[in-house]
Amino acid sequence: MTIDPIVPVFDGHNDVLLRLLLSSEPSPETRFIEGEKAGHIDLPKARKGGLAGGLCAMYVPTPSQQKDANGDYKTPEMASALTTTLAMAALLARIERQAEGRLRICRTADDIREAMQRGAFASVLHIEGAEAIGPDLDALYVLHQAGLRTLGPVWSRPNIFAYGVPFRFPSSPDIGPGLSDHGKKLVQTCNDLRIMVDLSHMNEQGFWDIAAISDAPLVASHSNAHALSPHSRNLTDRQLDAIRDTGGLAGLNFGVLFLRQDGTRNPDTDLSVLVKHIDYIVNRIGIDHIALGSDFDGTTIPAAMRDASDLQLLVSALRQSGYDDEALRKICHANWIRVLDQTWKN
Ligand SMILES: [Zn+2]
Repeated sequence: MTIDPIVPVFDGHNDVLLRLLLSSEPSPETRFIEGEKAGHIDLPKARKGGLAGGLCAMYVPTPSQQKDANGDYKTPEMASALTTTLAMAALLARIERQAEGRLRICRTADDIREAMQRGAFASVLHIEGAEAIGPDLDALYVLHQAGLRTLGPVWSRPNIFAYGVPFRFPSSPDIGPGLSDHGKKLVQTCNDLRIMVDLSHMNEQGFWDIAAISDAPLVASHSNAHALSPHSRNLTDRQLDAIRDTGGLAGLNFGVLFLRQDGTRNPDTDLSVLVKHIDYIVNRIGIDHIALGSDFDGTTIPAAMRDASDLQLLVSALRQSGYDDEALRKICHANWIRVLDQTWKN
């Protein structure tokens, strides 16, 4: 019997910083570095499952999970959003210092390649919902200096830049207006600074506004095929085609809510469902435009995959359904590194 080699995974979305920050347990840095029972990602779990790194989101939760009259999430205030965002950036910086080479905050594609080569967790600072940034964009410049390299203008709620698509099922992503003037300026400034603009959580009008403005490949870091799971958060065929046409990618979200045909939060979801979404996207737009965007530590994932330590189960499932070494390399990390390299270099 031969044992399949581990395929390293560079992943497009995790919420480990939020999980660590929300936990009341002390020493989040040590818990991440030495590992703990809770959560999907820490260094020992990452090592076991071949999780080589990924985009670490700075996401500001809606205060007390408040919702408006439509049942949609309310938007946090800028001052508190900036405080929370800085707390997450600082936490990752402290982890990097304490980890003594086992985690690196990557600012270039070469940083990612080098970190992966020597087995350091290759993390990239990402904003999910830009509530911390005001209309002057001052915080954007400062955060960029601190290592921010990718940014989703919205989470699933409106802000001064754009309209985040609310969680609806079944629903088209075409809910709400497009980018504001502030949003257009944000996208142009991200282009100037070579910060990747992430389209996951963007509503459809905002998606097309960004497609018209941005000079970078279109990327949805953690979104699935709407044709298989008609959630408002997923990508329509037209959106997938636009991603392909710009050389971008879609990262597969492991959240059962965005995988299942029935839209329920049911963890009894077979890994074959993830493979089906990948098959669909590959058939539609090609092997160069699909990657992974687990949403580890941010959502309910299939029970068959307990956490990052089980990541190679998905790789095995893909291998069994016919993906060869080269295809697995692209899905698991090469597509992400190519798109980030192109976005950051231009
Ligand atoms: Zn998300």
